[in-house]
Amino acid sequence: MLSSSIELTTEHGALLVQHFWCQDGECLIASNPKVETSPPFVRIHSSCVFSESLGSMDCDCSLQLSRALEKICKEGGYVLYRFEEGRGTGLKNKIEAIRVQQRDGVDTRTAFEALGFQPDPRTYSVAIKALEAIGIGQEVLLNTNNPNKIAALDKAGFVVKRVNLGIERDRRVQAYFDQKKACLGHMDD
Ligand SMILES: [Zn+2]
Repeated sequence: MLSSSIELTTEHGALLVQHFWCQDGECLIASNPKVETSPPFVRIHSSCVFSESLGSMDCDCSLQLSRALEKICKEGGYVLYRFEEGRGTGLKNKIEAIRVQQRDGVDTRTAFEALGFQPDPRTYSVAIKALEAIGIGQEVLLNTNNPNKIAALDKAGFVVKRVNLGIERDRRVQAYFDQKKACLGHMDD
């Protein structure tokens, strides 16, 4: 179910924000209705309180989000924002996984498995239902390095083309990204 929308003035520009809710969960949809693009740019973003609120430089979640918002303010498109910390396992488990990584020097996959979780237990059913609710059409330009996201949208009947935002990473974030590539099969930019 879609809520009515509000307009937010942000550092990136004006954004239209809507709430979407279904049985599987909720998300925010940020968009720029003033620029119509076909197929539209879409980013499905999972929240990361450490980088987005606390300024952590251990991952590039905040940077990815900012770049995607900048892009939709200029060129149109959608960012679907999901409150799902720790790949949907919650804040406590996110902290536990990072603690295991720091203590044992292991990658995120090993840390998640050590805690009894799948390496990436996220599903994209809420995002898919939200995209259907806003009537986005079949084709999307999806901003991701995550093959699971592409597969999930593909399975739901979307025609997915992958787009990158050419994000430069410093040494620390590049190491985090290289690890995700190695252990979760993430794709290169
Ligand atoms: Zn992060």
